[in-house]
Amino acid sequence: MFITELSGVGAKRAHALQSAGIFTVADLLEHFPRDYDDRSNVKTIAELIPDAVNTIRGIVAFEPECVTLKRFTVTKLKIKDHTGTLEIIWFNQPYLKKNFKKGGEYLFTGKIREQGTILQMQSPDYEAAGETELSGGRIVPVYTVPKLYSQKTFRALIYEALKFSGTLSPNPNELFEKSSTKTLTGGLFEENISRELREKYDLCDREMAIRNIHFPETDEMFHHARRRLVFEELFFMQVALLQIKEVVKAQKGIVFSCADYAPFLEWLEFAPTGAQARVLAEIAKDISCGIRMNRLVQGDVGSGKTAVAFAAAYLAAQSGYQTALMAPTDVLATQHFVQCEKLFAPRGIGAVLLTGSLTAKAKREALAKIKDGSAKIIIGTHALIQDGVEYACLGLCITDEQHRFGVNQRLALTQKGSPDEYAPHVLVMTATPIPRTLGLILYGDLDISVIDEYPPGRQAIKTYCVNSSYRERINNFILKETSQNRQAYVICPAIQENQDTAPTKTELQNVTAYTNELREALPSLQIAYLHGRMKPAEKQQTMDDFKAGKTDVIISTTVIEVGVHVPNATLIVIENAERFGLSQLHQLRGRVGRGTAQSHCVLITNSKNEQTTSRMNAMTQTTDGFRLAELDLEQRGAGDFFGTRQHGLPEFKIANLYRDLDILKIAQEEAIANKDIVGALPPHPHELF
Ligand code: ADP
Ligand code: MG
Repeated sequence: MFITELSGVGAKRAHALQSAGIFTVADLLEHFPRDYDDRSNVKTIAELIPDAVNTIRGIVAFEPECVTLKRFTVTKLKIKDHTGTLEIIWFNQPYLKKNFKKGGEYLFTGKIREQGTILQMQSPDYEAAGETELSGGRIVPVYTVPKLYSQKTFRALIYEALKFSGTLSPNPNELFEKSSTKTLTGGLFEENISRELREKYDLCDREMAIRNIHFPETDEMFHHARRRLVFEELFFMQVALLQIKEVVKAQKGIVFSCADYAPFLEWLEFAPTGAQARVLAEIAKDISCGIRMNRLVQGDVGSGKTAVAFAAAYLAAQSGYQTALMAPTDVLATQHFVQCEKLFAPRGIGAVLLTGSLTAKAKREALAKIKDGSAKIIIGTHALIQDGVEYACLGLCITDEQHRFGVNQRLALTQKGSPDEYAPHVLVMTATPIPRTLGLILYGDLDISVIDEYPPGRQAIKTYCVNSSYRERINNFILKETSQNRQAYVICPAIQENQDTAPTKTELQNVTAYTNELREALPSLQIAYLHGRMKPAEKQQTMDDFKAGKTDVIISTTVIEVGVHVPNATLIVIENAERFGLSQLHQLRGRVGRGTAQSHCVLITNSKNEQTTSRMNAMTQTTDGFRLAELDLEQRGAGDFFGTRQHGLPEFKIANLYRDLDILKIAQEEAIANKDIVGALPPHPHELF
């Protein structure tokens, strides 16, 4: 059922919805609110509380007015109910006038001010009173809205989808009695959890859950709905994991003829650490045993995962197979490519880079080399798999620091080869430290290797937390480090509504304003900036200059965060550190401490909030990512190691690993008990590589 079947969704809006991952009405129904606004308490005018947000129901007493003053227009309404009158105004929205009729009844939600003796509400949310009151008199959902939609229009769309779906819904009680599989026919509220499980764990049916997650009838119904949907999400994730595991177990793995990585190690300027050697031995065993490798390599930032990945690529190349190495960003892919060329090109092993910023010609050439097999190592963003790239003989897929690497994507990847074909080996590299217990649940399908040792000569990064009154001293610190020919990062927060959308204007302003300030304060330094709105080529140039030591300081948003490697950078200053989660702070800090010199991390925050303080303390006390992840888990809800979508953890629509750890455990048990009777969730086509 495509979204275009809903009224009001034309080509443009459909496109906006699709960009947000919403293709069908079912997708829409699973686009859950990110928050709620409790407007169930509708007040009379006499009950209104000044300086607070209130919802009222009132009748328009006079024809709406629109007054044009010098520089703006004011649209004015007089509202009455049986207890009094209220003035409502909007600035510069003259077209609103036609939305109201004298005598009509409407709901308004907005902040109340006392203007002398007059009560006034400015720029409220409003809607006509009547049958479908969505914005007041209830708990109102707040969404991450796609482009072209406001909260109001999106809410209306969801409501329409719910109505539409209801008419198609089969009687939920008839479900699951005839058959225990999930392939039931019926509407969009199709039940997918057996009655037995629902009764056992007191889970409401799917229709009720979906309706109440969007428009909760009561607080209690909301919690009931949420619990059911969390269970559903985690349960099917666990089922999918178990199925991946079975698929993989049954898949034949290519047997690499070369499992000796010792010659590769000779190419490196360093000897591997004990941990790197151990992981390499595990990989060598995987690729020669005849079963497909499906391995996760966890290693904190700077632990040397790249060398391990290249050693695996070496084994593939020596065995006559190609390796695809996927990185999350152009910058990172390019960095890998440069390193790769240094190692492999002199030894006659061809590599190509495939990113979005290639010219058409360069791309054609790269594709040709991939197809004819002259490129043995193919490095790029995940366009590598999306673009219908044809490989001559792909033997190994490596994903580095993969963001948003969901279970469905892993499932799709493992299903690429049918059981009697030989499927490429899979190696996933992540810097996300996951406590062991959780790792087993989240990555149950993968074998896990841990690089728990740093290359020798590293000094632990010293971390400090200060408030902004230290700015001058920090500037002096920057000056001191750079005068020793070292380099520094300054990180400004990215204020993003939604991590999928483009960076906001504010982010841009933060970075450029900060750059100007610092240039003024430290005129002798070369200061560059980096943010998400720059073109890939510009970003690359900025990074290249920094790596080459042409710039002293780089001011950046979190685009710098993942994997960037500049050993000469010894100082990172993080502004508004309270805006970042523990995980992000840890990742950011990992940009320094990559050489042998002592590195420093300065966290700046003026927040005295208890949670912030505990996060900052954790950061100053340890640099061990696993320890931080555990601390975060202990202080559940305090940080966000598992709350952000950014760090290689599976992404959830509704589940929150802090709050829902107990449901996760149940879901895992039940998935094991039920894996044979439940069909796996088919991956959405747009989630596939
Ligand atoms: P990450 O695990 O964060 O991806 P990298 O692979 O980027 O870490 O490695 C960080 C730095 O450490 C690189 O400069 C790399 O050359 C260096 N390195 C890796 N392994 C060793 C080692 N065994 N001895 C010395 N330096 C190493
Ligand atoms: Mg890396």
